[in-house]
Amino acid sequence: MRRPESKLGPSLELYGHVDVLLAKGRGELDVVAQVQRVPGYRIEGDVVRMAHAALIAELAERVCEDRHPVEGVYELAVTAMDELARETDPRRASAWFLMSALDLLGYAPQLMACVSCERPLAAKPAAFSAEAGGFLCDRCALPSMDLVPLATIKVLRLMASGDLETYRRVKLDGALMASIEGVLQSQLEHHLDRRLKSLAFLHEMRM
Ligand SMILES: [Zn+2]
Repeated sequence: MRRPESKLGPSLELYGHVDVLLAKGRGELDVVAQVQRVPGYRIEGDVVRMAHAALIAELAERVCEDRHPVEGVYELAVTAMDELARETDPRRASAWFLMSALDLLGYAPQLMACVSCERPLAAKPAAFSAEAGGFLCDRCALPSMDLVPLATIKVLRLMASGDLETYRRVKLDGALMASIEGVLQSQLEHHLDRRLKSLAFLHEMRM
């Protein structure tokens, strides 16, 4: 509950970056003693950006149990929000975050070799299986599986290499972006026990 006279109010904007001092409460909940806004990005005011920020926040919250932080998740969330604020295309920043999060959680898709037989993937479209955790070669893929374009696989490899500078400059049209998101989101949702509300919302927004 935020009371109108609360001194903490102005610092607590949605998806803002704050430094919080907590005092140990008597029960399960701690008491917020002090809040200070950390200078830097601002997400507020843009619906699409806010929806992507919700994805970052939901995923960070989902993978961390109360009082058991996962190493690197906080840093990743802050970096992702920062990138989201500076990037003209929020989807681009959001996809980068998904790849980084998958990597951090140990769920990064296998992109160089067939996930089933380990043979190197040929330079051509390949089927993706979230269950298997990567791409499949011709011999291992089922005929019914959709093929992911080579361009998508190449961008995914660039993302996995962590080269953000080059990634920022890659031209991504709508179809390529959607294909990249499709791979990353299916891989992520395969590893989560519940679906992400923010991801469902992003899909609804696009319809
Ligand atoms: Zn294979």
